[in-house]
Amino acid sequence: MDEDNLTFRLTGTQRDMVMSVRRLAQQRFKDRWKQWQDGTFPWENMHDLAEIGVLSMSVPKAYGGLELSALDAALVLEEIAKVCYVTAMAALGEVGTQTRMIAHFAPENIKQDILPRVAAGSAVLSICMTEPDAGTDLGRMRSNVRRQQDELILSGTKTLISRADVAEGFVVFARIGDTPGIDGIGGVYVQRDTPGMSINSAYHTIGGEYLSEVVFDQCRVPADQLLIDAGGFKDLISAFNIQRCMNASISLGLAEGSLEESIRYMRNREAYEQRIGDFQGMRWKVSEMYRDIEASRSLLYRACASADPFPDPVLAALAKMTCNQMSLRVTSEAVQIHGGYGFVEESLVARQYCCARYGSLGGGTTETLSNLVGRTLVDGLDDADGLLGYQNY
Ligand SMILES: Cc1cc2nc3c(=O)[nH]c(=O)nc-3n(C[C@H](O)[C@H](O)[C@H](O)COP(=O)(O)OP(=O)(O)OC[C@H]3O[C@@H](n4cnc5c(N)ncnc54)[C@H](O)[C@@H]3O)c2cc1C
Repeated sequence: MDEDNLTFRLTGTQRDMVMSVRRLAQQRFKDRWKQWQDGTFPWENMHDLAEIGVLSMSVPKAYGGLELSALDAALVLEEIAKVCYVTAMAALGEVGTQTRMIAHFAPENIKQDILPRVAAGSAVLSICMTEPDAGTDLGRMRSNVRRQQDELILSGTKTLISRADVAEGFVVFARIGDTPGIDGIGGVYVQRDTPGMSINSAYHTIGGEYLSEVVFDQCRVPADQLLIDAGGFKDLISAFNIQRCMNASISLGLAEGSLEESIRYMRNREAYEQRIGDFQGMRWKVSEMYRDIEASRSLLYRACASADPFPDPVLAALAKMTCNQMSLRVTSEAVQIHGGYGFVEESLVARQYCCARYGSLGGGTTETLSNLVGRTLVDGLDDADGLLGYQNY
């Protein structure tokens, strides 16, 4: 075995990219996070991100993008999430699954229309999967597409949808034709303001952003906007593994941001005539927080590096579950380190603690991902290879 393959180092270009996003996030986004708590979309931050090329990183070069890897996208979201969950969630739509699905599956005219605008930061994308009666259990999905000559007629209701209030383009999962269960599900691209479509910002989350209900009432969509036909659910879910890695990178960033805040606080806050950072009990806390962050980070980067073009499903599930759970523990410890000030609304660690709750819900719940990993092991373990068959080394 070539041991060099097991070492993990960011390239010089990746380091420069992370540092430029870090400078922007620390110098500008960190002071602005309170502006977005009422559900206002962070356009100001998005324009800043577009200026340094971040929003174009998942767009192919042919459409004005940088065409960077899934790992690059995760590194960037991690840095943004350290100081502003709402901005990381806003950028997730552009550096994550939607853009890559369009780049991979959409017809040329759609790519030429939307991808350059995504790269420039002037268009935002949404993904519509969840329905009022079908969240985890996608086989219950009722939204459907009927073919009529050269058109697709889309009907159904989607709910808990991020960025729908501002998005220009929607990747919509729906039943194509009559095939029941998940085998009948495919994907279609819908432009904002397609007649028959309505958007209602139904829910204000404890993270700050709005989630919307999107209704498609016999929307007529050109037939070439079918991204994936019935029977292609495997392709859809395979692409969704990008979302799982990106969600995990936001959890990782929240945890890291809360650790950085905690260390600053421990250096300055005094009790019993010394810095609280000089108490052994406090040092053990940050040591454990950092231990958990580093362990989760290794798994996530490995999952991202497996992308070809989409990440390995088991690694993505393991990384997501690990980062989500870790971030809940670490942000909670950060609140503890800040004492009573950690619980006030104005404190960044209180915000990070609240936002960390999102991770294990969006992009596949912990339970459903545990089912996926468990099923893969129980049904698929081969006696000859044992676990080596799954380890992707
Ligand atoms: C901040 C945020 C942003 C979101 N953005 C989007 C978006 O942009 N687009 C989109 O389509 N959706 C989005 N969602 C919705 C999200 O994907 C769903 O909430 C999620 O898939 C779970 O579906 P549900 O809420 O209907 O829960 P349910 O499916 O009703 O599940 C309820 C509980 O039962 C558990 N459960 C269900 N089945 C099983 C099982 N077989 N075994 C064990 N436990 C099980 C679940 O894990 C969960 O704990 C977002 C959610 C949040 C919180």
